[in-house]
Amino acid sequence: MPTAANTSANNTSLDQYEVWFLTGSQHLYGEDVLKQVAAQSQEIANVLNANSNVPVKLVWKPVLTDSDAIRRTALEANSDDSVIGVTAWMHTFSPAKMWIQGLDALRKPLLHLHTQANRDLPWADIDFDFMNLNQAAHGDREFGYIQSRLGVPRKTVVGHVSNPEVARQVGAWQRASAGWAAVRTLKLTRFGDNMRNVAVTEGDKTEAELRFGVSVNTWSVNELADAVHGAAESDVDALVAEYERLYDVVDELKAGGDRHESLRYSARIELGLRGFLEANGSAAFTTSFEDLGALRQLPGMAVQRLMADGYGFGAEGDWKTAILVRAAKVMGGDLPGGASLMEDYTYHLEPGSEKILGAHMLEVCPSLTAKKPRVEIHPLGIGGKEDPVRMVFDTDAGPGIVVALSDMRDRFRLVANVVDVVDLDQPLPNLPVARALWEPKPNFATSAAAWLTAGAAHHTVLSTQVGLDVFEDFAEIAKTELLTIDEGTTIKQFKKELNWNAAYYKLAGGL
Ligand code: MN
Repeated sequence: MPTAANTSANNTSLDQYEVWFLTGSQHLYGEDVLKQVAAQSQEIANVLNANSNVPVKLVWKPVLTDSDAIRRTALEANSDDSVIGVTAWMHTFSPAKMWIQGLDALRKPLLHLHTQANRDLPWADIDFDFMNLNQAAHGDREFGYIQSRLGVPRKTVVGHVSNPEVARQVGAWQRASAGWAAVRTLKLTRFGDNMRNVAVTEGDKTEAELRFGVSVNTWSVNELADAVHGAAESDVDALVAEYERLYDVVDELKAGGDRHESLRYSARIELGLRGFLEANGSAAFTTSFEDLGALRQLPGMAVQRLMADGYGFGAEGDWKTAILVRAAKVMGGDLPGGASLMEDYTYHLEPGSEKILGAHMLEVCPSLTAKKPRVEIHPLGIGGKEDPVRMVFDTDAGPGIVVALSDMRDRFRLVANVVDVVDLDQPLPNLPVARALWEPKPNFATSAAAWLTAGAAHHTVLSTQVGLDVFEDFAEIAKTELLTIDEGTTIKQFKKELNWNAAYYKLAGGL
């Protein structure tokens, strides 16, 4: 068992991060103007910081007026792990050659905020001093040119900060940047390999470490089993009491019930698994029902509880989906709703009311409901082990998104489908697992045809916390292909996009 202690790897708090607010100017207009630039840019940062849709603290930095300071600031941002990105605004005219070395050195996500201090033209008072002070209209165009010329990936947000849409877009990009920071530092622990013969859960782990920064490594499941079987009885007692307090535990599993020992064993799995991941500094993991070694149950409730605590998870060795679950946990951890491993399982094909029933054999995160889950025990037809304990619940209705990650050989591909999670048409009294029912955009037939045409996976992350905008920003930051299936999708256009992307990503990757 690994020994390096890190008990906070599963942290999802956005309070641990900051974004630097950089303002560009120059000395042409004198010190008084630079003082006004400093005061006004601090005010812009303050207004955004006060907006509840801006979740990560903006840290204002002194106005930048020369190439050396810009380059040093970029290098400092690179080396500070708490800095997840920089936001830049060219208040006055900041000749962009000053930014070449800094932008070339910058390794953190960049948001170009195109705004100005005043909302309205001061029609009666405007003079040329005002024009010199408030010239982001062309200072930012100069900055846009140099970013495009250097090929700097960035998000561009336009508008006065009093416009709620500006704060909303800044916030979405911050969430994506936080997800990126979490993935860049992610250590992913696998117990066993991929499910035998499955294609889409395979992938290039070396390439993943280069592209995403995530390190993916495997441990013997019997090392986990040793940790599970070494759990202290007193810890098991306390955890079982917590289960009975938090959840609606069926009588046979409760203390004194016929099958209470199975609940205690499930608690042992949680203790062993949590301790193993903490010791490993790991915030994501995979299991495999085909490789359980000395474990007596497939981890079910333990996995559900760890996901609820911010861990990424993929079943059947699916480390790529575990990355997405961890990213989604960080991107939306403070918002209502949840994020979970999900699998497209079976359909309701009533014409005009088609729906997808998603679930997994056990491992769906209870963050998807605000209701109290039931804790039940049922046989599992595969794996050849004892009956596993699991939480059972219906996912709460509301807007959501499902996202998959495929390895297409020469690149990774993200595919995202905007969905509406809906209430069940009727109860599912005989389905012994947690589930979600959704209607995909733009409609079932287009969604499924696009998904299949893109070669997207059957495992996904379902998030009911963040939307397509956050995943779009994430993909841009990650320089990773993203195909979106939403209200505007047509198969005709989607197929063209696939062909264009095939050419684009080969060219962008270099010959
Ligand atoms: Mn599966």
